[in-house]
Amino acid sequence: MSQLKRILVTGGAGFLGSHICERMVDHGHDVICLDNLFTSQKHNIEHLLKKPNFEFVRHDVTEPITLEVDQIYNMACPASPVHYQYNPIKTMKVSVMGAINMLGMAKRTGARILQASTSEIYGDPTAEFHPQPEHYRGNVNPIGIRACYDEGKRAAETLFFDYHRSNGVDIRVVRIFNTYGPRMHPFDGRVVTNFIVQALMGQDITIYGDGSQTRSFCYCDDLVDVIIALMNNDAPGSKASDPDFIGPVNIGNPGEFTIKQLAEKVIELTGSGSTLTYLPLPNDDPLQRKPDISLAKEKLGWEPKVPLEEGLKKTIDYFKSVDLSSFRQPTDHTAHKSSQITSV
Ligand code: NAD
Ligand code: UDP
Repeated sequence: MSQLKRILVTGGAGFLGSHICERMVDHGHDVICLDNLFTSQKHNIEHLLKKPNFEFVRHDVTEPITLEVDQIYNMACPASPVHYQYNPIKTMKVSVMGAINMLGMAKRTGARILQASTSEIYGDPTAEFHPQPEHYRGNVNPIGIRACYDEGKRAAETLFFDYHRSNGVDIRVVRIFNTYGPRMHPFDGRVVTNFIVQALMGQDITIYGDGSQTRSFCYCDDLVDVIIALMNNDAPGSKASDPDFIGPVNIGNPGEFTIKQLAEKVIELTGSGSTLTYLPLPNDDPLQRKPDISLAKEKLGWEPKVPLEEGLKKTIDYFKSVDLSSFRQPTDHTAHKSSQITSV
């Protein structure tokens, strides 16, 4: 990354977007953070606002905008089930219209554009595709309560590859598996935040289902390292300088844990007296999820470095350091309650 660039980060005030903004500002690039603050607050970028090479634009990606940039990280989208199910039609619009608007900008300016796709495009993976490789076509319920996010992100991938084939847009696509760390919104309803906040507040730890479902948790620094490397073809690995590698590529930590194991680990690390309470499993909640990261290893020479315990300790320290009362409280709508919506 020798040359200084003009970089747009949509969703830049969010958890992952703010880490990307920070890295890019530290490297001296000219950074525009575009966000409508739907699932975040200025808190995450407060320390950047006074920097001369950082600019915050409050804007909704579903509306067109004209900017001149060299690179676009398209991170804008509500990411937690609670947030993306709050207004599912808007969620689909963010993925699809947001992608069209940003791809149009990339086409006009010649900017390289990276899409934050997701493991959710695999839906509830069948046993024969465990861990999930990139060639797995997925098992998504197209009319379920997660479909607004899963199908929206699938459509966005389609748009990225069609703009690439039809218009020569320079794309990168990463499929992000559950990633956690400092700057997650404390009330986003995701499992890591819920468990840590509940443990710190001495509340019951809410396990949905029997807690045997699995997830693989990646610490944010590992993810941000590889996303930036892919964008710039400067990963440390052997084929990293291959400009033809555009993805899609799975990015995540292959360590697989049951949700109950995660709850027990959080209780141990916080020293909390919280006990476990069991609630119904939301509809279409994937029973197992673990990335096959062979492609990331081969093409980018990347694998995650931060083990779960170390990442959780850093995340717990973060939540201890922030004033929880300064964050917007959770809405009444929760992923758990959504399970009461019947589906076919
Ligand atoms: P986040 O909710 O913290 O960040 C998303 C940001 O997008 C927020 O700042 C939000 O205000 C903004 N946003 C939402 N709708 C918008 C709109 N219409 N216009 C402009 N901004 C809008 O979530 P995150 O975990 O940082 O996720 C970032 C991206 O990574 C998302 O696209 C998400 O789908 C993807 N992703 C994240 C994970 C993960 O585990 N964290 C996993 C898979 C994919
Ligand atoms: N989960 C849970 N308790 C919570 C929040 C989530 O048991 O308080 C479960 C959820 O049902 C899912 C897993 O934890 O099986 C991960 O949920 P999250 O919302 O973090 O993300 P997902 O991977 O489902 O998109």
